[in-house]
Order: sequence, then structure tokens, then C-alpha cells
Amino acid sequence: MNRPVVVIAGAGFGGLTCARALKHAPVDVLLVDRNNYHLFTPLLYQVATAILDPGEVAHPVRQLIRDLPHGDFRKAEVTGVDFDRRLLLTEEGPIHYEYLVIATGATTDYFGNRSLAETTMGLKSLDEGLAFRNHVFSQFEKSRWVTDPDERRRLLTFVVVGGGPTGVEMAGAISELIRLVLRKDYRDLNLNEVRVVLIEAAPFLLGRFDPRLREAARKSLEHKNVDVMLGSKVEAVTHEAVRLGGGIEIPTFNVLWTAGVRGSEAGAATGLPLERPSRIKVGATLQAPGHGEVFVIGDSAGVTNGGGLLPMLIPVAMQEAKQVAASITEMVDGGSPKTFLYKDPGIMATIGRNSGVAQLGRVKLSGFPGWLMWLFVHLVNVVTFRSRLIVLINWAWDYLFYDRPIRLIVRAAEPPSRSKMAP
Ligand SMILES: Cc1cc2nc3c(=O)[nH]c(=O)nc-3n(C[C@H](O)[C@H](O)[C@H](O)COP(=O)(O)OP(=O)(O)OC[C@H]3O[C@@H](n4cnc5c(N)ncnc54)[C@H](O)[C@@H]3O)c2cc1C
Repeated sequence: MNRPVVVIAGAGFGGLTCARALKHAPVDVLLVDRNNYHLFTPLLYQVATAILDPGEVAHPVRQLIRDLPHGDFRKAEVTGVDFDRRLLLTEEGPIHYEYLVIATGATTDYFGNRSLAETTMGLKSLDEGLAFRNHVFSQFEKSRWVTDPDERRRLLTFVVVGGGPTGVEMAGAISELIRLVLRKDYRDLNLNEVRVVLIEAAPFLLGRFDPRLREAARKSLEHKNVDVMLGSKVEAVTHEAVRLGGGIEIPTFNVLWTAGVRGSEAGAATGLPLERPSRIKVGATLQAPGHGEVFVIGDSAGVTNGGGLLPMLIPVAMQEAKQVAASITEMVDGGSPKTFLYKDPGIMATIGRNSGVAQLGRVKLSGFPGWLMWLFVHLVNVVTFRSRLIVLINWAWDYLFYDRPIRLIVRAAEPPSRSKMAP
């Protein structure tokens, strides 16, 4: 019997979960991703701040699908879909599908301001996490050559824009990296010349959390020497400063932009109708309008649940993935797709050592209990047992010795020119 081919674009939380959930279905599964690895995004900020190495938060897709007897992987950049001929279009060539699952995630949103993309750094990919880590250590090294104190301050001022979980986690982790670890390496460092600033346009941090937890997060960050600027709108970012409303200017060479996120470019390139912010509009069965054999899940999908769109979160992507796998299994057997209903397991964020916030239904934790909950949930969800062990050792080392041994400025060398390589 010919097995229908299910092509899954994107091997992130949605794509990988869907492939695994199809393990026993009578289909062949082909995962396609621009990277050969699956990234555990919640710990990416720890790569950017030298707590963890890339290998602890990213895992080869081929290793993760080894136990799928009818699963395979192709590394390729997805560029679009030919719905009439049922082809997923990639830079390497088209791939035929009987069922297609679009799970290409999200990308940083600069709200149409192209200059922000040039003057700020992002934190959506492993490459960006490593680039940020290199940048922080390079700025510290440069600052030792500079005699002008204003120039040194500009080098050592780190501005994070966006008070969501990623911005809060990054601001706390940068401040701790500097104050607990780097100050031991740079004995002549004047901490008055170092500044970590978190800028948020709303009058509070962590908009999706309970007001009491938002306030706990703000206090905790301030306690960790982060300047929290609420109700502050960024008007412009140059290579040398951040300009805020009211004529406030923060001189800095270092701006991390975590203030916006929108559906992936690959999703937009399908030409399917989009919901704001650039997420493909899908109905309750997660099927693309007019294309019953195409499903959209995760950050790329604009699914309405009661009021607004479902948030861009891992549990949403994973629950949708399982639902779509069940629908495809039914459809192969002549049945109908199922309706999706999201079950909210809660949200959490960490603010560095000993401090976190967690909102799990009626249970609301902050401070040390919130932090313990965050540690536990993230540790058990790290993708492989080996990584779980290494992550635990790295966390314990950092906690006990105030030390992050991964303080390396590393850059991959350019590969040999194409002419020297085999075709
Ligand atoms: C720094 C950070 C921290 C986060 N922390 C949390 C958290 O603590 N808890 C939580 O619930 N959520 C968190 N999130 C959000 C969470 O990562 C997403 O909601 C989740 O990953 C969505 O799953 P997905 O499958 O839609 O997309 P992803 O997991 O992002 O996977 C998308 C995949 O598609 C691939 N891809 C994209 N475009 C192309 C293309 N053109 N061609 C080929 N492949 C492509 C990507 O390489 C990626 O592998 C965080 C996100 C970030 C960036």
C-alpha cells in the first residue's frame, strides 16, 4: 500500500511534536528545516549570557527522529507552497506532499522600522544568542583599551527593549553575568560605568501575568541593579544611542530588541490570508482556508480561542501538533479532522538567581518558590537526558561558584570558497 507523505515545514516545538505523534500512523513523515537542529528556546537566553553551551539547548533533528521508522529529515530553506501541485517549495527544490503541516514559527518584529534591524540585536535563533554572547565579551575587552570614561560607559551600557519574559530574563541574566562573574575577571572594572536598562512601553512588565507577579518581577530586577524604565517608548535607535519619548537619550552601543514578534516569513510567503501579526489565519481544525490537506500550527498559526489569538507559546504549538497528527491519522482512514481546544497549563519566567514568577491556574508563585518551579519545569523539559544532566551540572556550578566558564569569544571561520568544494 502507498503511504501518504506528510511534509512538516519546521522542526521546532510544533513540527517535531507532530512528527513524533505520527509515529504509528500509516504515513511517511518528512521534516524540513533550515537548521539541522531543534532549538529549546526557553534556555536560549542562557546561551546568550554564557550559562549554557549551544549543544545543551539544541539537538540534531536526525537524532531526535531516529526512532521514527517512517520519518526522515531534509535541511532546506522553505520559500513557499504550490498548493495546486501540492509542492512545498524550498531553495533545494520542491517536495511533494499529500498532507502539509506549516510549523515555521515566528521572527522578530521591527514594526516596519528597517533601521531597528540594523542597529539592534535579536534573540530568536541560536546564531543570535551566540552573537550576543560574543558581543558582550568583546565590549568588555574593548572597554579596557578606552581611556575616555563616557566612551567606556557607552560600551558597558546594555539596553534591553521589551518587558516580556525574554526581555526580563535577559536583563536579569546580563546584570548577574556582569556583577557576579565578570567583575572578578576585570578587577579594575568600575561598576559605576556599567549599566543594564530594561525599557518597556507599557506601565508594567510581563503583560500576561497577574499584577502582583508583574510587580514582584520589577522589584526583583531593580534589586539586581537593572534600571527598569516603564511607560517608555523607543523613538529611535542609532549605532550610538537609544532615543526615548520626552527627549531622553541613553548612550549605548548595545541594544537587544525583544519588543516584537510576528509569524515567520515562510508562513507569509505561502500567500495564505494572515491575521496580525503576520500569522496564517486558520479555523478550529487548524486547516488552511480552502486547503483541507494543509494545516498550520504553532507561532505561524493565527487561531482564535474565545477572545483573541492564542499566544505564541510552546504548549500551544505542542497541543496543536498533537491535534493535527490525530486529524491526519483520521483523514488517512477516511475520517474528518478534529476541532482544537487549548488547555492552558500556565506561564512562568525567571529573573535570575533565586527569583522567578509562575502562574499556574490559581497558584501564583514569586521569588524563590517561583524560581524553583521554573528550574524544575525547564529541567524536565530539556529535550535529551544527556542535556538534562549537563544543564543541571552547569546550573549547580554557576549557583555555587558564581562562575560561568563559557566566557569565550568564538566565531566560526569562513568555509573554503565554493570553487574548492565538491558540487
Ligand atoms: C528566546 C525565546 C524564549 C522563549 N521562551 C519560552 C518559554 O519559556 N515558554 C514558552 O512557552 N515559549 C517560549 N518561547 C516561545 C516558543 O519558542 C514558541 O512559541 C515555540 O517555539 C513555537 O513553536 P513553533 O513550532 O511554532 O516554532 P519554533 O519552535 O520556533 O520552530 C520553527 C522552526 O521552523 C524553522 N524555520 C523557520 N523558517 C524556516 C524556513 N523559511 N525554512 C526552513 N525552516 C524554517 C526554524 O528553524 C525552527 O526550527 C520563547 C521564544 C524565544 C525566542
